[in-house]
Amino acid sequence: MKKRILSIVSSIFLASSLAACQSTPEPAKTAATTEKTPVEESSEQVKKGITADAELTNSNAAGTMQVYYLDVGQGDSIYIKTPNGDDILIDGGNNDRGDDVVAYLKKYHVDDLEVMIATHPDADHIGGLDTVLQNMDVKAVYMPKVTHTTKTFEDFVLAVKNEGLKLKEAKAGVSLALAGVDAEFVGPVTSYGEDLNSSSAVLKVTNGENRFLFTGDATVEAEQDMIASGTNLQADVLKLGHHGANTSTGEAFLTKVQPKYAIVSAGKDNQYGHPTAETLQKMQVHHIQVFRTDEQGTIIATSDGSTITFNTDPAKIEQNTVKNKAAVTPANPVATQTPHATTTSQTAVTSLNATVDNPTPEQYETIHLDVAGMSGAPFTAIFHYKSKDTTYTGTVGTTLPVRISLAAAGFEVQIDITVQADGKQYQTQTSFIPK
Ligand SMILES: [Zn+2]
Repeated sequence: MKKRILSIVSSIFLASSLAACQSTPEPAKTAATTEKTPVEESSEQVKKGITADAELTNSNAAGTMQVYYLDVGQGDSIYIKTPNGDDILIDGGNNDRGDDVVAYLKKYHVDDLEVMIATHPDADHIGGLDTVLQNMDVKAVYMPKVTHTTKTFEDFVLAVKNEGLKLKEAKAGVSLALAGVDAEFVGPVTSYGEDLNSSSAVLKVTNGENRFLFTGDATVEAEQDMIASGTNLQADVLKLGHHGANTSTGEAFLTKVQPKYAIVSAGKDNQYGHPTAETLQKMQVHHIQVFRTDEQGTIIATSDGSTITFNTDPAKIEQNTVKNKAAVTPANPVATQTPHATTTSQTAVTSLNATVDNPTPEQYETIHLDVAGMSGAPFTAIFHYKSKDTTYTGTVGTTLPVRISLAAAGFEVQIDITVQADGKQYQTQTSFIPK
């Protein structure tokens, strides 16, 4: 089975050099597409995820681009209408979401797709793409050069073949041949073997001064490679990698991208705990506004080349109401250390210390934790509440606000702060007593 799919893939893949040097722009579509028949709003499921019908124009004002982070439950599917009226689809949700994606596209008056991108072969990204291929005229399909042995992947590859298309390789440096917008892959930078998430195609789309980054499920390892490649990763809107999991969105990547807005594409109450409390905490530390498909349905971003507006207000982040305790367990289990241990390496740091601005806060009050001494280094802070431990992440030198919720009155909450740097671990402590 694996061999067969492999052979289909290699036969269907265009020579990568061909894809890489394709530079002839496709003829720009006319923006005047008003003669199209509006599609009946038949699907209740689709209506649910859409809040602003006014956004559903079938042609864009000059210079205006729209990005729809479609609500497809646990998975990714993003539709982009460029200022020239070209249509790009990144991923198509799970197998059972293909019909929904087609319904969304029809509702948005999409008659064909200039570009389809399969970020990587996981089912929550390519599952619905075969249905899209069967229902829409697709001009070009991009995917990183990776393979998989699932029926889902085989269905996708066959659907591409049945369209008479060859896969074009998505990799860093490849640009989409579209007029009026700059769309270029910044990842994958290298090959990651069977690590599908790391292999994710990462697309950067620039419309005037507005930049969008679409990361698939790219991991911290892939992020490091993108940083090392020297590509300009700055973007206003970042689709968080891997549905907001801890395996993506490292501090270094966030510092490079410097997004103002982050999008989480995830399913309501999904079994993976996506997005994690740590990822959301990072968004707070960096003052990034978050939009979530699991809570807000389809998120629509409109870019006019200088300003980006959204169809809804940012999601509220409840700092201390972590539903899933497992979600706050750090990937690196520093919680297992003796809280008051002082490591020998501490001598290397003369002044790592931590303070809270209010040692006796009221319940539900927000306190501010400041860690000083190793400016710029990421830290984890474990709050030892009476009932449980909660871990937060932050950056040394940047104030971390923490809402303490219903912390037990009179119980001293110890805070253990750990900084990992140069393969060593540094610790400090502080505490507060809720009134
Ligand atoms: Zn995924």
